[in-house]
Amino acid sequence: MKTNKEFIEYFNKNKSKDIYREIFNKYFLNESKCRICNDVIYYYDSTFTFKSNKIQPKGKSFLTTKNVDKVYHLSICEDCLTIKYPEYSDKNKSRVFNQMNYLTEYAFDINHETALKWMKDKYAITEENLIKKWGVDIGKEKWNEYRNKQALTNTFEYKRDKYGWTEEEFKDYNKSRSVTIENLINRHGEEIGLKKWMDYCDRQKYTTTIEYFQEKHGIDKGKDVYDDFCKKRLFGAAYSKISIDLFENLISRINENYRIYYKDNEWYSYDKDNKKYYLVDFYIRELNIGIEFNGDIWHANPKKYKPNDTPFPLDSGLNAKDIWEKDRIKNDFLRTKLNKLIIIWEDDLNKDGIDKTVDKIIKEIYE
Ligand SMILES: [Zn+2]
Repeated sequence: MKTNKEFIEYFNKNKSKDIYREIFNKYFLNESKCRICNDVIYYYDSTFTFKSNKIQPKGKSFLTTKNVDKVYHLSICEDCLTIKYPEYSDKNKSRVFNQMNYLTEYAFDINHETALKWMKDKYAITEENLIKKWGVDIGKEKWNEYRNKQALTNTFEYKRDKYGWTEEEFKDYNKSRSVTIENLINRHGEEIGLKKWMDYCDRQKYTTTIEYFQEKHGIDKGKDVYDDFCKKRLFGAAYSKISIDLFENLISRINENYRIYYKDNEWYSYDKDNKKYYLVDFYIRELNIGIEFNGDIWHANPKKYKPNDTPFPLDSGLNAKDIWEKDRIKNDFLRTKLNKLIIIWEDDLNKDGIDKTVDKIIKEIYE
């Protein structure tokens, strides 16, 4: 028989589910199997490892914080996960289980309540979270600031004096501001609502409420920013990993003194005629150039959709034609404000890759 080291080397060189299964069934009969297909829990990076001087399959576990009540182990194989959630194959597989999301919840069979609690604790604005992020002194200061501001701005008197709200409007607002799990589930049903919520939390860094955006940007703009934010996040368009990689690459290749507006500091312009705030994904102040990253679904890529197609399977409403018209109005308006508006399509970025796309952008910037 081979030595341990040779054994693992042999496996890594000849890696396949079949070989994994063969070794597994010979030596590890007591290890757990996929809870759906009862086959081995095999993933692209599955291998064996030494543990207590013995070779063991290298499992994945999920624990990370005190909010998860115990250590969870993968209980779904990669094939079954992909059948249930085909979008898994487009995710960054080395990272997808690093945090709680609907895929983690499903693959590790984590109790639904536990997963939600984990998400809330991680993303909510709490003193603890602020201290974690900013250190004790600044964290405490920010927490007090936040609390004072919340206490003031959430009163009816404040809304009435500042925005002229009636009591009725104040009540509605309080109802609607919980654009959270509950509302998404009410609107879309348990499965899709939860998925939307998790996807949404997954992609954003701090808080999840429309209120946050409205406090930050005011009622009207806050709503636009929030809508934009949700749509982009829900449909994986802007600031998906690939778009962040694109923009970061671009930043590294342009004048470092340029002031860049993007991510949670997006540049925007107000269209008085349409009473709309329009946000631009990436903006360079000194050049007054904007760059929009158009997700194929959200912007109904004409290469993929016909005029009467409705690209959002989860949303009732707009067909591709409506979306093009909406974008045309937005882009026409932005072009009156910007020296140049550069539009990058998700599909083109996927095809051309980041380097080539950045080359193209830089050429457009300076031509
Ligand atoms: Zn399976």
